[in-house]
Amino acid sequence: MILVSSANGSIGIDGVWSEFQNGLDALTAVERATWIVEDNVEDNSVGTGGLPNLDGEVELDASIMEGSKRRAGAVAGLKGFRHPISVARAVMEISPHVLLVGDGAARFAKEVGAEPGDLLTEKASLIWEKGLESLPEGLSGEILKKAQALTQDPEKAVGTVNFLSIDSQGAMASAVSTSGWAWKWPGRAGDSPVVGAGNYCDARFGAAACTGFGELSIRASTARTVVNYLSQGATPEEAGVQALLDLKHLDEPPEKLIMHTVILSSDGTHGGVSTDPNATYAWRDETCKTTVLTKRTHVALY
Ligand code: ASP
Repeated sequence: MILVSSANGSIGIDGVWSEFQNGLDALTAVERATWIVEDNVEDNSVGTGGLPNLDGEVELDASIMEGSKRRAGAVAGLKGFRHPISVARAVMEISPHVLLVGDGAARFAKEVGAEPGDLLTEKASLIWEKGLESLPEGLSGEILKKAQALTQDPEKAVGTVNFLSIDSQGAMASAVSTSGWAWKWPGRAGDSPVVGAGNYCDARFGAAACTGFGELSIRASTARTVVNYLSQGATPEEAGVQALLDLKHLDEPPEKLIMHTVILSSDGTHGGVSTDPNATYAWRDETCKTTVLTKRTHVALY
């Protein structure tokens, strides 16, 4: 049994570990671990405390996947609910669909009794306002250029949480939740709710999930590409490196080539790969006393 996450997920792994050890299934473990990060107001990239879109509204994206049959559920642009990951799970388990967006997703969330949430914190609102103030002179009326300038700086705008898991019965699941790029265009969906882009889980081979510039992983189906490499016998590290190298061909400038992936093979081996030389990922298995942070393998794309 093992849980793997992006570094900001370590509180989620620690939070569910004892239940997980006592038999909690992989799907519920990744869902509950995600709850903890969605509730963490210090994390400005996920759930409550997440940074808002261009209009100052927090719009959430999330997806969950169960590896034995590759069942999946996702929501995009969901406003006003505390745990988008659980709405995604309800999409998977209750609806005949995989992805619900915007008002339709919110209506579904209400229908299934999802808990409402006041997502915009004072801190997130201040960061958002400061960003608008930092815009170069002359952009004030040009909404499209304004949106582009604000979302250009990945240091300011990024963040997402990934969880991958194998439980004591050998079942696999994965979960991804985010408020997406800060100052994003209202209605913009990133890779997190797109199965195959930001999240993929196939219990025959393994699972992968992404953080970073979602437009890249949508174009390159990065999570699915990683799992394809696993299916061909690559180690998690090799699979992640190859999938990130594949982004080079998208021919984007260095400041846009930002991608990080966590990988868990069905044999329990795991890895983290990133275009950032200092990035880490978190994991815990039965051999650990607490969650471990491990440096990711760096892939230079430029
Ligand atoms: N991948 C997320 C998105 O594009 C953002 C991030 O992970 O930083 O919405």
